[in-house]
Amino acid sequence: MDIVLQSTILCPVCGHAETETMPEDSCVIFYECRQCGTMLRPLHGEDCVFCSYGTQRCPDKQREAQGKTS
Ligand SMILES: [Zn+2]
Repeated sequence: MDIVLQSTILCPVCGHAETETMPEDSCVIFYECRQCGTMLRPLHGEDCVFCSYGTQRCPDKQREAQGKTS
């Protein structure tokens, strides 16, 4: 199993990219951009800001993609 915990969030408002470490077993619903302070929320159909704006999907989705839902 190869779960990546680092994801770079790209702010859709100011374009700032920030690498964050994702919690392994919970989704992140809100994320405040460190540059412009915009509160990001998941896009429609997503349940996690990392899935919506990050370079990596959250650990839950990565596990799902690998067919290893617990
Ligand atoms: Zn921003």
